[in-house]
Amino acid sequence: MKKEKIIYFGNPVLRDQAKPVTAFHKKLHALVDVMKFTLLNEDGAAALAANQVSVPKRITVINYMDEYLELINPEIVSSSGESVDSEGCLSLPGYFGNVRRAETVIVKFQDRNGKERTIERSGRMARCLQHEIDHLDGILFIDRMEEQFVTNGENKLAVEDLLRATSVKRDVD
Ligand SMILES: [Zn+2]
Repeated sequence: MKKEKIIYFGNPVLRDQAKPVTAFHKKLHALVDVMKFTLLNEDGAAALAANQVSVPKRITVINYMDEYLELINPEIVSSSGESVDSEGCLSLPGYFGNVRRAETVIVKFQDRNGKERTIERSGRMARCLQHEIDHLDGILFIDRMEEQFVTNGENKLAVEDLLRATSVKRDVD
C-alpha cells in the first residue's frame, strides 16, 4: 500500500465542507484503509481527516492515547467543560499553538460498515476529536487560537498570516 499525500495549510481543499458518506462498501473501506496506512506511517501523527488527503468526505482516523478509531460522519452531540492546551496539525508540521476546547465531548459516528456508535471522551482525546471534526467543516486550529502565533520552538509564525494564507475558498459552481 502507498501513503496518500498529505496537503498543507494554504491548500483550499482544507477549507472545503466535507460531504457525508452514504455508501459503506468496498470503495469506502479502501479509502479508510489507505488513510489508516498513511496515519500509522506518519511519525508522531495522532489523526488524519479525509480533507487532508484531498478527499472532502466526512471521515477521520485517529491513533491516539492507546486507541485507534475510524469515524465516519462524526458529530458532536454534546460537550461540556473547557480547557486550553497545545495543539498541532499534520497539515502544518512541527508547529503548535494553544487552543480553547471543550473538556469533554460525546461523539456520534458510524463505523466503516455504517453501524452507529457513540463515545464519550475527555482531555487530550476530546481535543483530538474536536480538531478532527473541525477539519471536516473546513475549520483549522488557527481559527480558534487566541494567541498571535504558532511556534515550533525555534520559529514563530503569525496566526494572522496563516489565516490569510488559508482563507482561499474554491469556486464550486
Ligand atoms: Zn489537523
